[in-house]
Amino acid sequence: MFAPEDGAVDAPALARALRADAKRHGARTLNTRVNRLTTILGRATGVEIPAGKIKAEHVVIAAGAWSTTIEHLPRHLPVEPVRGQMGAAPWPADMPRIVLYYDHAYVLARSGEAIFGSTMEHVGFDGRVTDAGVREIVAAAQRLLPHLPAVPTRTWAGLRPITPDGRPIVGPDPDVRGLWYATGHGRNGVLLAGLTGEIIGDLVSTGTTEVEIASLAPERFTS
Ligand SMILES: Cc1cc2nc3c(=O)[nH]c(=O)nc-3n(C[C@H](O)[C@H](O)[C@H](O)COP(=O)(O)OP(=O)(O)OC[C@H]3O[C@@H](n4cnc5c(N)ncnc54)[C@H](O)[C@@H]3O)c2cc1C
Repeated sequence: MFAPEDGAVDAPALARALRADAKRHGARTLNTRVNRLTTILGRATGVEIPAGKIKAEHVVIAAGAWSTTIEHLPRHLPVEPVRGQMGAAPWPADMPRIVLYYDHAYVLARSGEAIFGSTMEHVGFDGRVTDAGVREIVAAAQRLLPHLPAVPTRTWAGLRPITPDGRPIVGPDPDVRGLWYATGHGRNGVLLAGLTGEIIGDLVSTGTTEVEIASLAPERFTS
């Protein structure tokens, strides 16, 4: 598919910009692992980190594919890591800068490079790039853009947080007050980041949202 009106977000740049903006608005960030949720009498009270405890009235579980590794959550989250491998090569000269898409493969132009991918691999938390994965994405990309070189200039891989029904988990925990979920966004976490942020922001600050989120409820997998 040739998609002349489509664009592409630079996700790492977007994340850096959002973080800088949050800091400008007074947010404090701490680069550490959360080991455990803490609760008292059905109410979230904070989290445990390697350096100690942090008290908080509200806790949002938003650790992507790793959300399930946080201890003492009141429910099982069926979020599975699914690896995606990506590659980059110089954008071919004399080619218009476009987005091409077919099946699960795509090639897009970003800052002079062709970015292409991606695999869908159920390999647990193994985030490595593999020869077989790179061969697969190069072959798929060359079907879309035959001028692409066979050897990428760089490659990388990430783990998508996938749920059984393909929908994210966004909303309150029904049993623990002050505990919220924003996880399981699968292949669309960048696309859905703005909306998820608005929903969670409204829920935490006002307790309600105008967006219909019943189909995203965390308890849908257990009830
Ligand atoms: C190859 C590939 C291509 C993709 N392409 C697209 C695309 O085109 N469009 C799109 O919308 N989406 C795309 N996605 C999906 C998108 O990247 C994810 O949906 C999105 O990153 C999920 O965001 P998140 O913040 O929930 O999780 P993540 O981005 O995975 O972030 C989770 C964060 O939590 C941190 N963390 C983990 N455990 C802990 C802990 N115990 N304590 C504290 N922090 C912790 C991690 O270090 C990480 O920083 C792609 C994904 C891959 C892998």
